[in-house]
Amino acid sequence: MSRIIFCDFDGTITKSDNIISIMKHFDPPGWEPIKDQILSREISIREGVGKMFATLPSELKKDITEYVVETAEIRGGFGEFVDYTKQAGIPLNIVSGGIDFFVKPMLAPFHLEDHLYCNGSDFSGQYIRITWPHACDEYCSNDCGCCKPSLIRKLADQDAEKIVIGDSVTDLEAAKLADLVFVCGVYLEEKCLELNLPYKRFTHFDEVISYLKQTEEVISR
Ligand SMILES: [Mg+2]
Ligand SMILES: [Zn+2]
Repeated sequence: MSRIIFCDFDGTITKSDNIISIMKHFDPPGWEPIKDQILSREISIREGVGKMFATLPSELKKDITEYVVETAEIRGGFGEFVDYTKQAGIPLNIVSGGIDFFVKPMLAPFHLEDHLYCNGSDFSGQYIRITWPHACDEYCSNDCGCCKPSLIRKLADQDAEKIVIGDSVTDLEAAKLADLVFVCGVYLEEKCLELNLPYKRFTHFDEVISYLKQTEEVISR
């Protein structure tokens, strides 16, 4: 049996959620009620993220990118984790509800661009417009924005062991399709418990590597 990994970006590869940290720092009027509506699932992630960025002027592009690159921290062990998956031949896909203009520069040192799936952005108008190159397929009615379950259906073989790594609300629909979920955030852990999804908690990517190494032989037998 083969393995395939789908790893979240915000709050998982980086220690905190960059969309939230951008909003807190630039503090455009009205972003907070929109965030609360997303978390309470009153509005979809796509609608909410689109609305939050539409409060930010396009001219802030450079400032926002620099802010993220300078302040966001990569979770410990991520570089080693990328190396391990390459050596072991395990496809590592980054599936992110983040936006290309800050996700790409953050991931540049790890050379994952061929396996990066995130939202797009358009700065041609007065305010930032988010684009959705990986919207939901016909089986998902969740209006995800970047649809992780759709990407799993598209990229994973039926019989592959699907491993999802994530922390929060954007990972929930993917976690439901996973054989195993690695969780590094309270929201997703609570949902896994509630829905009885198989999960392991981690804080450092070393823990993910050692689990994958331990179970590697069992898988290939
Ligand atoms: Mg996240
Ligand atoms: Zn979806």
